[in-house]
Amino acid sequence: MTIRIALVAHDAKKDALVEWVVRNAPRLADMEIVATGTTGARIGAALPQLHVKALKSGPLGGDQQIGALIAEDQLDALVFFVDPLSPMPHDVDVKALTRLAIVYDLPLACSISTADAVLEYISR
Ligand code: PGA
Repeated sequence: MTIRIALVAHDAKKDALVEWVVRNAPRLADMEIVATGTTGARIGAALPQLHVKALKSGPLGGDQQIGALIAEDQLDALVFFVDPLSPMPHDVDVKALTRLAIVYDLPLACSISTADAVLEYISR
């Protein structure tokens, strides 16, 4: 079955996520990728060959759309590069998304090293 992964990065972390995706492109190429709006656009611009379904931008409901996918058992992993140094207008959405990942025991990575570990785990 195709592995389904969601990718989200706050603005200060988008470069890091795009770099991570570029480095792992061969593995990600076989996966179904969903992303919040701006993150998805950045990944699509860097790697047009990847199939990325972009949802709404995070602050406009994209985080909640990904939360709904988790609740409906439609995801195998979430890579969410959170910016821990900036206040977010949609902080409650960020908390709700990470909370649902924990509730459903979905592999969740919030940094480069844990994203590497999660990718290894879901590709096993
Ligand atoms: P974005 O959303 O990819 O649309 O910037 C990310 C977020 O802030 O949750």
